[in-house]
Amino acid sequence: MKVAVVGAGVSGAIVAQLLSKAGFAVEVYDLAKQYSKPCGEVTPISTLKVLRTHRIEEPQILNKISSFVLYDMNGATIARAAFSDPIWVSIDKSEWVNGLREGLELRVHGVHPKKLASSYDLIIDARGPYAMPGTPVVVWRAYSRTRGDIDPDTAVMFINGGRSIGLVWAFPHGDEINVGGGFVGVSNPKDIATKVLRKHLNVHGGFRDSRFSIVNIAPRIRPRKGNILSVGEAGGYVLSLGGEGIRPAVLTAIAASHLLGGADKSVDWAMQVLEDVRREVVAHNTLIRVSRSMPQPMLARAMSSLSTHMLKKWLGGNVRGYVDVARFIYSGLRGVVARRLSFG
Ligand SMILES: Cc1cc2nc3c(=O)[nH]c(=O)nc-3n(C[C@H](O)[C@H](O)[C@H](O)COP(=O)(O)OP(=O)(O)OC[C@H]3O[C@@H](n4cnc5c(N)ncnc54)[C@H](O)[C@@H]3O)c2cc1C
Repeated sequence: MKVAVVGAGVSGAIVAQLLSKAGFAVEVYDLAKQYSKPCGEVTPISTLKVLRTHRIEEPQILNKISSFVLYDMNGATIARAAFSDPIWVSIDKSEWVNGLREGLELRVHGVHPKKLASSYDLIIDARGPYAMPGTPVVVWRAYSRTRGDIDPDTAVMFINGGRSIGLVWAFPHGDEINVGGGFVGVSNPKDIATKVLRKHLNVHGGFRDSRFSIVNIAPRIRPRKGNILSVGEAGGYVLSLGGEGIRPAVLTAIAASHLLGGADKSVDWAMQVLEDVRREVVAHNTLIRVSRSMPQPMLARAMSSLSTHMLKKWLGGNVRGYVDVARFIYSGLRGVVARRLSFG
């Protein structure tokens, strides 16, 4: 079977590697020889386990993150959580993806999957966010040598609620920090993010590799059209609350290659993985809709009332399906209602 993979980011590089190993004739297209998409570069620690299980090269771990601080945009604390074991790792994503690309025959030019439909038996669309329907959010990212007031095991996020929901982040990244931010409907989030970072974390410029990209929130999952199969963000697999996309890209890429070349057992496994990621995407889409309907103070109160268990579920990538959505909302709104009653 002749396969084309369009896009050699996280999902495309993995799927191309696995299908090549399984004996498919794979041709890979990407806009650029080197992968360098800006990213917050944090992922739940479970991503590493999945990669290890499937013998896929793991990224180098720069930091293990076990503490989280959430602020509102004025610097007031919404929640703090410290766990005994790491929940996230920070990685050098570009170095990792470029490593995954090694050994692949890369054709360096952009192409639309539809244009290849008659030349290949199967096309994998792995073009990332630009290929996907949803609400695109412009996101800024840079590295800063000024560490500010951030511990190497702590992730900091400033949450903005309401219609222009979004966040500013500061994540440890080796000797530096990875900073950025994005908000629905804001075309230049850098101005807002740098102000917040300066005022509340003491991060005063010194930025390098300052760049913009997009992430889609409220994506529509679109796994297949004709002989085009979509994985990663191109298939709508990205999580709206925070824009987590590395783990869904890894999971859907592995699942797709198992569906194509796997034995019965791995096909069942792959179907279950795709269903789990779909339920996660749906849960996040619902929660982002609910969050956008809340004014900022109400969202901050709801988030500050989340139980540690629910926070860990969210940060660890385990909010799935409508039962979890209900639990999440219940956990958050309990505090809002209690506060209303106590003032009543
Ligand atoms: C600023 C920012 C911060 C983020 N932070 C995080 C984070 O901390 N943690 C997390 O989990 N997720 C984060 N995300 C999301 C995450 O980066 C993506 O969801 C993830 O990279 C998706 O992987 P992918 O394989 O679907 O696509 P990508 O990794 O985006 O790869 C797509 C590839 O397709 C190529 N391509 C595009 N169009 C074409 C074309 N026409 N022809 C050929 N090639 C093409 C691109 O060059 C690229 O190499 C962030 C996103 C942004 C924008």
